Amino acid sequence: MKTAIIGAGAAGCFCAIELKRRLPDVVVDIYEAGNKPLAKVAITGGGRCNLTNSFEEIDNLKEAYPRGDKLMRRVFSTFDNRDTWEWFENEGVKLVLQDDHCVFPASQDATRIVNLLMTRMRQLGVNILTRHKVDSVKSLMEEYDSVVVTTGGYNPRNIIPGSTGDLFEGLDLEIVPPVPSLFTFNLPTSPVRDLMGTVVDNVTASLAGTRFKASGPLLITHWGMSGPAILKLSSYAARHLAEVRYDSTLLVNWCGEDNLDSVRSALQKNAVKNPLKLVVNSHPEYIPSRLWSYLVTKSKIREDARWAEIGPKGLNRLAETLSNDSYHIKGQSRFKEEFVTCGGVSLTNINYNTLECVKHPGLYFAGEVLDIDGITGGFNLQAAWSTGYLAALSIAGKTG
Ligand SMILES: Cc1cc2nc3c(=O)[nH]c(=O)nc-3n(C[C@H](O)[C@H](O)[C@H](O)COP(=O)(O)OP(=O)(O)OC[C@H]3O[C@@H](n4cnc5c(N)ncnc54)[C@H](O)[C@@H]3O)c2cc1C
Repeated sequence: MKTAIIGAGAAGCFCAIELKRRLPDVVVDIYEAGNKPLAKVAITGGGRCNLTNSFEEIDNLKEAYPRGDKLMRRVFSTFDNRDTWEWFENEGVKLVLQDDHCVFPASQDATRIVNLLMTRMRQLGVNILTRHKVDSVKSLMEEYDSVVVTTGGYNPRNIIPGSTGDLFEGLDLEIVPPVPSLFTFNLPTSPVRDLMGTVVDNVTASLAGTRFKASGPLLITHWGMSGPAILKLSSYAARHLAEVRYDSTLLVNWCGEDNLDSVRSALQKNAVKNPLKLVVNSHPEYIPSRLWSYLVTKSKIREDARWAEIGPKGLNRLAETLSNDSYHIKGQSRFKEEFVTCGGVSLTNINYNTLECVKHPGLYFAGEVLDIDGITGGFNLQAAWSTGYLAALSIAGKTG
């Protein structure tokens, strides 16, 4: 029996290990286009590898996986984040859970994960053929009993159907057009960029005229806005933003979830309590003073104005700016190059219980090549481990 895996990334290597453990006699060949296996894993999480998440803050899987939540629910019934924790710790890698629910190796070093997977593959006799780019899944299927495609995110030569060297030529697969996810917003005309480096711990960011909304910390950068709230929003709205060519209106509620009325009444109380204080000098503790001064000016309140002088109109303008501050997004930038692909092989091609292709028995998909992607926080690697595991289990169940 022979299995080919296309792509020695997180999903491919995990799948190979689990398959060889179950069926030691099966020949497992991994074809890798690059010079080295697991090259991307080595640079994940800024070189620290955020390999999963505790999921404690996730009430609904759709929050973590804007695309593919239903498949992930099914896959997690076989192998979820707790299994991942146990798997790596059983292999001798001590893990740590951070306050933000992200999980890293205690060594804070992604090479610990890479070395472990490489060692296990060597011990189990997995064959890794580096610098072997596969051009056609169909021809590989003629040589092997099963083929697992784990080619990762968007790669123009692999994925666009009908293009030269289309990896899936002749398979008649449905492909969801790939677009980037997890990016930051360019605000080329906004003076807010002068406040680069400013962080607000809990904002709600949304896109005007849409239902896309995300909360969390926001970072002002020299090109626009970044931070967890923005990255999450870029993920939720990845396809919409591609359709409008990254030209949209960002609304920031600097007061988190508070609505206009409650912001206005808090300002009112402050005005009554401190009538003679300068507005510009009395920033709420969650808004840094430089940002407050910018927001006061944006609300057309003079720098020398006192609370008693600004009147209901001034209060209204300030409350509106604080809870519904508007910016023109024009373009996107990559966050430390940690983008992932929204789109890929459509889940309509897949049997959810096995990850086998409905049209082509013996052909499986795992990892980012599928139309599954998550927000930042370890969710994307978790998807790679879980789907790689399930593909191995399915092949072993069929073959063993
Ligand atoms: C800089 C960066 C940092 C990240 N950090 C994190 C993080 O900390 N936590 C997290 O959860 N996610 C992170 N991600 C996302 C995560 O790395 C990916 O979602 C995950 O690696 C996907 O795993 P995969 O096995 O599907 O694909 P990959 O790991 O991308 O592996 C695919 C492999 O297939 C090979 N390949 C492609 N086409 C062919 C072909 N035709 N023939 C042969 N080989 C081929 C590629 O060379 C590659 O080695 C990060 C992403 C980036 C870019």
